[in-house]
Amino acid sequence: MAKVIRFTGGQRCKDCGDQIPPARLRASPSARKCVACQTDREQRAANIARAMSPNDIAIIKG
Ligand SMILES: [Zn+2]
Repeated sequence: MAKVIRFTGGQRCKDCGDQIPPARLRASPSARKCVACQTDREQRAANIARAMSPNDIAIIKG
């Protein structure tokens, strides 16, 4: 069965499926996640970054 993608004017969060508020999309048109999921991800990334030494981060970034 073909998957039909409907554009109803709202982008949905690819993590939880919640609709991303239009105001958020205006502020960040490339947003693919709702505020809650995006914040959660950034928080985890920040925690990982803090746990690593600058040398480790340099290796990951190449
Ligand atoms: Zn979400």
